[in-house]
Amino acid sequence: MKHTPLIRLERVSKHYILENGDRYPALTDITLTIGQGEFAAIMGPSGSGKSTLMHILGALDTASSGCQFFRDRDISAYSPNQLAEIRNRDIGFVFQSFNLLPRTSVLKNVERPMVYGGIEKNERRQRALEMLALMKIADKAESMSNRLSGGQVQRVAIARALVMDPAIILADEPTGNLDTKTAHEIMEFIKELNKKGKTIVVITHEEDIARYAHRQIRLLDGRVVSDTHT
Ligand code: ADP
Ligand code: MG
Repeated sequence: MKHTPLIRLERVSKHYILENGDRYPALTDITLTIGQGEFAAIMGPSGSGKSTLMHILGALDTASSGCQFFRDRDISAYSPNQLAEIRNRDIGFVFQSFNLLPRTSVLKNVERPMVYGGIEKNERRQRALEMLALMKIADKAESMSNRLSGGQVQRVAIARALVMDPAIILADEPTGNLDTKTAHEIMEFIKELNKKGKTIVVITHEEDIARYAHRQIRLLDGRVVSDTHT
């Protein structure tokens, strides 16, 4: 299937500057297109650059060299504010590093991206409840987020990622801390979202999780070593 390009990286490299001043090459010469409607898994051992690649795809971090396109726009030289606008409007994140606010209700957590998105109160509440219903967790709307199980947290995190109706969902190890059964439930939800047309990229190091995707991109030492469609 031919997809319209959504995100394109051309010869992207990323290095980190270490404390002793050395450059550490985390990604080297990555050329990659994520098409609209695709469901891709990024795989590779620990330290291979998966999270770094995800941060660049999500415009949370910028490349050290190379070009990046979002839809048909070259965003390589975008300012932090312009990148923040793309993130808020077009990208839904399910990352361990943006966890839910504890001692805050599930509903408030899911409403938060819409506060930044300038959406008015009644509509925020309505949309948040719809997304929680979609993720089959509307009954927990008034619960405190620190009272949820791991699987429930992930369903709420996905609901929150969806509320701005982003073009793409990026998920870094969304099943990382879950038991096998719950992990597969979460992947079933993600698969359904993809069937409805949402573009999805998930990082995983588990083969059976990666098989939900239609494409497996493998990294090793910051390079793409294979990119296969299934
Ligand atoms: P993965 O997600 O595949 O485990 P990462 O993208 O997190 O890999 O990291 C790739 C490499 O870059 C690792 O060797 C890691 O130690 C290094 N790295 C990641 N973030 C930083 C940072 N902020 N400063 C220095 N090195 C980093
Ligand atoms: Mg990682």
